Amino acid sequence: MTDCIFCKIVSGDIPAEKIFENDHVIGFRDLNPQAPTHVLVIPKKHISTINDIKDEDKALVGEMFLAAQQIAADVGLSGRGYRTVMNCNEEAGQTVFHIHLHLLGGRAMTWPPG
Ligand code: AMP
Repeated sequence: MTDCIFCKIVSGDIPAEKIFENDHVIGFRDLNPQAPTHVLVIPKKHISTINDIKDEDKALVGEMFLAAQQIAADVGLSGRGYRTVMNCNEEAGQTVFHIHLHLLGGRAMTWPPG
């Protein structure tokens, strides 16, 4: 997708502080962090929202969580705990329409979310 900001991060056309990459997903620091650690894990393949995930993407979505697990371990959050969030469409607060898993940690979280 030529007009997708996260596709441009995948292609390297816009910079990001990448901390994880494999053949299918990348992880990079959020530009506007909401916690001491705030990383976005995205598939290299463009998928607009959770509603657009297809049967063929099952392994890819699993890879997003495995990447989050690895990043959490790398930054020392596995034992302390962390939160993963994926927003879908307007009322959930999705602003970038290329699915992304927020990995948040490094402070105590509250529930329910706002
Ligand atoms: P969401 O509101 O769930 O769609 O989350 C989008 C997230 O992307 C927000 O937390 C933004 O701060 C973040 N974001 C937007 N543009 C960039 C960028 N170029 N690099 C890193 N994070 C970004």
